[in-house]
Amino acid sequence: MKVNQITRIIFTLAIFLLIRISDGMAAPPAAERSIEHIRGSIYTAHYPMNDSIYNSIFMVTEDGIVLVDPVSAGAARWLKEELKERFDQPVRYIIYSHFHFDHAPGAEVFSDTVVDIYAQEHFIENLENDPFNNKTKVLPTKTYRGRMELTFGTKKIELLDITSNHTNDTTVVRFPDEQIIFTVDVAPAGRIAWRYFGGWEVQDSNDFGLALTDMETIMALDFDFIVPGHYYHQPPEGLRRAYEYQIDLCKRVLTEMEAGHDLPQIIEKVTMADYSDLVKFDDFVAMNVEGMHYQLSQNEPDARCSITDGS
Ligand SMILES: [Zn+2]
Repeated sequence: MKVNQITRIIFTLAIFLLIRISDGMAAPPAAERSIEHIRGSIYTAHYPMNDSIYNSIFMVTEDGIVLVDPVSAGAARWLKEELKERFDQPVRYIIYSHFHFDHAPGAEVFSDTVVDIYAQEHFIENLENDPFNNKTKVLPTKTYRGRMELTFGTKKIELLDITSNHTNDTTVVRFPDEQIIFTVDVAPAGRIAWRYFGGWEVQDSNDFGLALTDMETIMALDFDFIVPGHYYHQPPEGLRRAYEYQIDLCKRVLTEMEAGHDLPQIIEKVTMADYSDLVKFDDFVAMNVEGMHYQLSQNEPDARCSITDGS
């Protein structure tokens, strides 16, 4: 092989890697807590834990920092120190994406500077009825239903509640000037579904059809980047691809079921290898197949999973 051929291959590989990194489809896993700049005054904080990467998002404004989801007291203490070093502003406002014990706790760490905490109106009753003994110590001071527009200094934030498959207090946070949205546990952009579609066990799997509806609602919003509550920010195509994966999974499992194959055969045949670039593919693809098989055994297939259209 000639030197210029090798140079060309290396150059091509470098461009490929650059595209992969810049399109956000396969960023390397962060081993440590870190802060990532997304755009303008918007940053994500990544916290690796529980075999996942959890995210907060925050906006730095003239009126203080607005933080969405402290995640945990430990993560919040770390973030507070980092913010002190990097920015000349304290955390003045917190927004909760939803009440779950692995996203909302930790706000007490900022109680010396926080003015208001926002959440959807069902947040408080959900917390009171939480079977997981929620560690969230600080209740919201302001709640809303439908849509709420907030202004901090010159920056704007929109809160949108969505009729969600995940919880009834789910808020999508939209930063309209930066064209960024933050969604938690409702839109697995750039990755496959967690275990059995959100369920730890197959019988707890979230309803596939409703999960698609959530993704459709979110895809209809205007944004350049989606920051999910887990893993890495994505362009809209990252969400579109996760959505197409779920529909293709449904079609392929249904085809095998209609051919009379049993679950072990279906797991072997439906490899979904054309989606192997999605995050958590190797860990969860067999569980996703089993979860889909379980749902299709229990329910009529969702219309969007119809296999009569030849696709
Ligand atoms: Zn959740």
